[in-house]
Amino acid sequence: MNSKLVVAVDVFDCDFALDLAREIGREVFAIKVNWPLIMVRGSSIVSELCRYTRVICDLKIADIPNTNSLIAGRVSEEGAWGVISQSFPGEDSLRAVVEAAGSTRVFSVVAMSHPGAKQFIYPNTEELIDMSLRAGVYGLIAPGNDYSMLSRIRSKTRDLTIMTPGIGAQGGSPEEALKNGADLLIVGRAIYNAESPIGEVKKLNSSISAFTAAAGNKQLS
Ligand code: C5P
Repeated sequence: MNSKLVVAVDVFDCDFALDLAREIGREVFAIKVNWPLIMVRGSSIVSELCRYTRVICDLKIADIPNTNSLIAGRVSEEGAWGVISQSFPGEDSLRAVVEAAGSTRVFSVVAMSHPGAKQFIYPNTEELIDMSLRAGVYGLIAPGNDYSMLSRIRSKTRDLTIMTPGIGAQGGSPEEALKNGADLLIVGRAIYNAESPIGEVKKLNSSISAFTAAAGNKQLS
């Protein structure tokens, strides 16, 4: 399955999340887990979801190197395909995530999709990208609803994988995000709140693959 969809499952209900993963797991690139599920079930929800698809842990890790290593090491042991870290705490903190994550791919946040991101993160995005490259991350998180920022980030990063939230509920369009440099599209509420999540996934997959076939976007493994 060559889907570019990463489905954010921001719920507290673990049974709902596992049923959803069973339903859509083969049709999506990955499921993204955030704090709500981990707060309720602990990190084992990651390995439970890994039975159905790749899992990306969106913990936005933002602490001192030692604490970051503990968190990244734990999600790696649970089998996560990827983990998301903040970059603003500094290069030593981000490097600690990359080292402890082992084969789990690290994505660092260099811009966010909500209005408040313009206060502190946007003015420092260029520096956060340079630092993320030096720390050896696999990919970046960039806003899928701010196309000029997204294409600026793309132009600075060559081959890094860019994953974009902000699609659907936050106003971004999948085609515009892909056109401006996204490789993977995070969609949460627009899928898990849909009457038929699998129907929504299939609809998005087919419009995205029609678009990428024409544009020749890269495939990930
Ligand atoms: O429901 P919706 O599609 O807006 O979900 C977006 C997901 O992406 C949420 O899990 C949110 O935490 C995450 N995210 C974001 N902006 C970022 C990084 C992650 O919205 N910069």
